[in-house]
Amino acid sequence: MITETLKETFKKNDHSLNGYSFEDIGDDHLFTGLETPMRADAFKLSDEEKKEKIALLFEEIMHVMGLDLTDDSLKGTPKRVAKMYIDEIFSGLNPQNKPKVALFDNKYQYNQMLVEKNISFYSNCEHHFVPIIGKAHIAYISSGKVIGLSKLNRIVQYYAKRPQVQERLTNQIAEELKNILDTEDVAVIIDAKHLCVSSRGIQDDTSATVTAYYSGAFNQAQKIAELQNYLNN
Ligand SMILES: [Zn+2]
Repeated sequence: MITETLKETFKKNDHSLNGYSFEDIGDDHLFTGLETPMRADAFKLSDEEKKEKIALLFEEIMHVMGLDLTDDSLKGTPKRVAKMYIDEIFSGLNPQNKPKVALFDNKYQYNQMLVEKNISFYSNCEHHFVPIIGKAHIAYISSGKVIGLSKLNRIVQYYAKRPQVQERLTNQIAEELKNILDTEDVAVIIDAKHLCVSSRGIQDDTSATVTAYYSGAFNQAQKIAELQNYLNN
């Protein structure tokens, strides 16, 4: 049923398929846009209702795989998974969980780039629902306003806690920073390992994926070199 709806969506955008099959799209980690694809009625159910529903559906998956749900070790798993999905690893789907960000005047008149590097995050690949583990590096040049450093981490965590593709995660963080800080001078670099590449599929344990978003002043080679210099030290 769900698959049919998605297939119709892809049929409508046939030009974007480029000869790929529906399954290839996922396994090659192609993505369809900046916004996380959500339905208009995404928040009709409350978090509690969603958890109840997911627990039942996950119990069904375990049952179909032949697991004995009366076993004491497995009994609590469906509810545990449902709670983890809604309250933790996919909590960034709900705009209510978006971090509240207060801006401050740039009193110190600091007008060079600020770099917050090595922000650890855990996300999940939207094609396989297995972890993406990585580090984000963020840089911006103040246009007169600054935000608390921990808020940069919180923005990364918010967008990471969604089913994701790394390119979209990078762009969503960058767009959010541009909006909040009211500047184009933003850079985001993400270096991550995808468990769907290492633990399954091609089973490459050493490769990592790097994505970058540079805008405004960060389009200049000199600024990129300066940023790279900070990241290398
Ligand atoms: Zn994947």
